[in-house]
Amino acid sequence: MSLAQYLKNRQPLVTKSFCYGLSHDQLAHAYLLTGEAGTPLKETARYLAKSIICDHPNPLACEECITCQRIDHEEYPDFVFLDGEEESIKKEDVQETLTLFQKTPLERKGVMIYVIHLVENMTLEAVNSLLKFLEEPSPWTYAILTTQNEEKVLPTIVSRCEKLRLILTPRDEVLKEALDLGVVQDDAEILSYFYNDASLLQLEAQKESFQKLKVALTDSIEALNRSANFARFTFETEVTPLLSTKASARFFFDMLTQFFRDIVAKKAGNPITLTSNATIIEEAAKKLPHVESSLLTIMTLRGEIELNIRVGLILAHLVNVLTKE
Ligand SMILES: [Zn+2]
Repeated sequence: MSLAQYLKNRQPLVTKSFCYGLSHDQLAHAYLLTGEAGTPLKETARYLAKSIICDHPNPLACEECITCQRIDHEEYPDFVFLDGEEESIKKEDVQETLTLFQKTPLERKGVMIYVIHLVENMTLEAVNSLLKFLEEPSPWTYAILTTQNEEKVLPTIVSRCEKLRLILTPRDEVLKEALDLGVVQDDAEILSYFYNDASLLQLEAQKESFQKLKVALTDSIEALNRSANFARFTFETEVTPLLSTKASARFFFDMLTQFFRDIVAKKAGNPITLTSNATIIEEAAKKLPHVESSLLTIMTLRGEIELNIRVGLILAHLVNVLTKE
């Protein structure tokens, strides 16, 4: 399913509201696109930006014209994308954009657009710079901000934006669509917790980085089932080298959390969701001690990734807690 189809089928309200603005020349100068983790916020923000300047909109972006292509390849000077996913957005990043946007547009469309993905991950100084900019937008400027957590966004920012909300697709529907696309079951089961759209899920499943992480994850649970020493060895040699970025470390901890939710469910006699991994989950439910408190530990240690603590240390501590009788 293309993003245009996804918006049309899954997000009719967002589509209707934005299309109305486009076709009646009544776009807001700033939008705040909200949606829970897993919704395609980044992709939707970029797509809506493209729709404003596409050469052949209908009324949303065609994805094929030279302008759409240039935006995809970051080769369109009047479009800026600030991404708060990996690192927080700093004052310098915002000011650089502001300086650029105070000039007149370079392209003949005469429109400048900036996207700030995950505004909740901006430093306070960056937010203050942005506020001034949102208060007095130049007539040719459009902003699309995104957030997974609106409560963390300053009300003064929220009040200056028109809100567009992405709604979650039920997980079992995403799972079914992913299987229909040919994604293998164990990939689809775990990734449907992280991708609320089957096409994006499929893209992730095809990545070598994900496949390696998945193998390391199941290997480490098998190792935990065997012994503390073997687990320590597996985490150190197999997992740690794969977690070189904060994003990969977060992803690993989030996947581990899902496995432990199932282990806790199994122990309580409830159904599990990662059915392709039923064998190691059942074994872990039998062998691992205090799995409920282990689940809490995993979630707490995930927070330490943000504190810039070395991931090897966090994992060593994790294994100690998980295996301690
Ligand atoms: Zn186009």
